[in-house]
Amino acid sequence: MTRANSRDRQLRDRADAVIPGGMYGHQATALLPEDYPQFFEKGEGAHIWDVDGARYLDFMCAYGPNLFGYANPQVDAAYVRQLGLGDTLTGPTALMVEMAEAMVAMVSHADWAMFCKNGTDATSMALTVARAHTRRKTVIRAKGAYHGAAAWCTPRPAGVIETDRAHQLFCDYNDVGSLESAAAQAGEDLACIFAAPFKHDAFIDQAEPDLAYARTAREICDRTGALLVVDDVRAGLRLARDCSWSRIGVQPDLSTWGKCIANGHPISALLGSDKARKAASVIFVTGSFWYQAAPMAAGLETLRLVRETDYLERITALGERLRDGLAERAKAAGFALRQTGPVTMPLFLFEDDPDLRKGFCFSSAMLDRGVYVHPWHNMFFCAAMTEADIDAALDAAEGAFGVLKREAASLGPVEKLAFLAGAH
Ligand code: PMP
Repeated sequence: MTRANSRDRQLRDRADAVIPGGMYGHQATALLPEDYPQFFEKGEGAHIWDVDGARYLDFMCAYGPNLFGYANPQVDAAYVRQLGLGDTLTGPTALMVEMAEAMVAMVSHADWAMFCKNGTDATSMALTVARAHTRRKTVIRAKGAYHGAAAWCTPRPAGVIETDRAHQLFCDYNDVGSLESAAAQAGEDLACIFAAPFKHDAFIDQAEPDLAYARTAREICDRTGALLVVDDVRAGLRLARDCSWSRIGVQPDLSTWGKCIANGHPISALLGSDKARKAASVIFVTGSFWYQAAPMAAGLETLRLVRETDYLERITALGERLRDGLAERAKAAGFALRQTGPVTMPLFLFEDDPDLRKGFCFSSAMLDRGVYVHPWHNMFFCAAMTEADIDAALDAAEGAFGVLKREAASLGPVEKLAFLAGAH
């Protein structure tokens, strides 16, 4: 329970007066255990400090943006240097061209890049490009897949009207039949298929992309002239130094990027192949802050680290170390823990835990031991983590399984997650 007189509590009370709901969006702690802090003071490397001074090994990495460590000295030096020269100017700097060149060189399907701020800017722009390219309306996407918070894709219905959602068809991720039937239903009006690089929906087991599903998406697009979009906003650079579907040999026409491409500095991107270049050049998309130079300087430095370091191999090895160690400790404590998703973006769910009461108890006990894990959203590894950090997390897990064992029989339902019971 958030302590009565903690700074976090005081800030929550003040926020209630001046921020709708006290906090909104994906970083609101409304659906997390009661003791999770809402407000933080700083981040350094793989750690964050809450406003009451508690330090945590952070397996959320800001929900993705932290790839090379918070306050990474090289990235932030590049950012600060450019800030001194100029950031938001009357036009872009040379860095915009360099950033586009760097991304096009790194991502095999891409011939061009456009920059924006948030992942939602990039996914919405992808939809506009696809509709401009095909002069058609319909988009197919997987049920439950998150592509951002604009009216066309936000997961909450409040304030959204039917026409915002018009011309969308849904399939089940990895289900070739449902993809084919959505395509048949779209007929000659199919503009694009959106695909998550793997199934990374909240609250449920994650799943790798099925090759037949990915190939079918590609074939449908080739057959109909629609564009295939891989939404790499969340997974980009944690699975490959290329578009995530390059790992299974399926190339999209468009890919969307954000979160970690400048290690936390605000920039996102839409990349495309030559096929979509003309459409991308005739749509009108822009923003006051889209051409800022400092995030581009940070992005160039981040991409240099991507190219020149073994960060991906290291976070993969660390991910495997956590997965193996956790499996061992769960087994020893007598718990069936399902660990799904790529090792660098894991999700843990307990067997027989429909309202996540075990997950909440375990996560709280981890938090108590200085490790910030998430009970129902995929987590993220960063290159600032070390083997010693993972071993500390495993020690914490051993203690947390002990707490769960003692308390399992007396755990009450998690009221705020009652909607989950029986849902899957
Ligand atoms: N697509 C995916 C797959 C995402 O995970 C997210 C953000 N979680 C977005 C799009 C939207 O990105 P942003 O929050 O930066 O708008």
